[in-house]
Amino acid sequence: MSYSIAIDGPAGAGKSTIAKRIAKQKGYIYVDTGAMYRAMALFLIRENITADESEKISAKCKEADISIEYRDGEQIVLLNGENVNGLIRTEEVGNMASASSVNGDVRKKLVELQQKLAATTDVVMDGRDIGTCVLPNADLKIYLTASSRVRAERRYKELIEKGMTAELDKIEQDIIERDYRDMNREISPLKQAEDAILVDSSDMTIEEVVSKIISLAS
Ligand code: C5P
Repeated sequence: MSYSIAIDGPAGAGKSTIAKRIAKQKGYIYVDTGAMYRAMALFLIRENITADESEKISAKCKEADISIEYRDGEQIVLLNGENVNGLIRTEEVGNMASASSVNGDVRKKLVELQQKLAATTDVVMDGRDIGTCVLPNADLKIYLTASSRVRAERRYKELIEKGMTAELDKIEQDIIERDYRDMNREISPLKQAEDAILVDSSDMTIEEVVSKIISLAS
């Protein structure tokens, strides 16, 4: 039987950084489900579809072939065969991912892919609905969060380090809006699974969070 760790939580809580480190230490595969929603969002943006066109999203999402490969331990997201890793980290794509992920057809398609990955491999999977919906029988479920200000500051730092321009207040506003959408959508809203362990990383270092989760997994 494969072992699975589900890490859910709002945008910018540090899920991917933490999940990657845990996967490395445990020798598991890291599955970044947000990247799949982002690849789908990129596809929809390229098709000139806007977030409010739900019928078009339902129809068009079927044409997006999204798959995952691992190269040197890094997850590569392929959109119709194209490596889109370098194109999906913008705020525009993130906002479209949040808006289009409310669509049931988009979710169905990506959840199936995620479940297939976890069926045969030990995984650390992060997202919004992993513990509640994708892997309801995960061996360990973590709900990782932090205050909206701390999360905005982390994203701001990331963008500045990449040489991009950013405005802290605007980022925090986007985070609050994204949280609201993720937590209040009809299908698979972001919420803590009943059997998930809450970890608030606002005042914790990355190392502290990683060792806490590792100790819970063993
Ligand atoms: O985690 P990340 O910010 O990359 O995710 C982008 C968007 O994809 C989120 O705001 C969320 O709306 C959506 N998402 C989701 N379910 C997941 C992962 C991400 O709805 N499991």
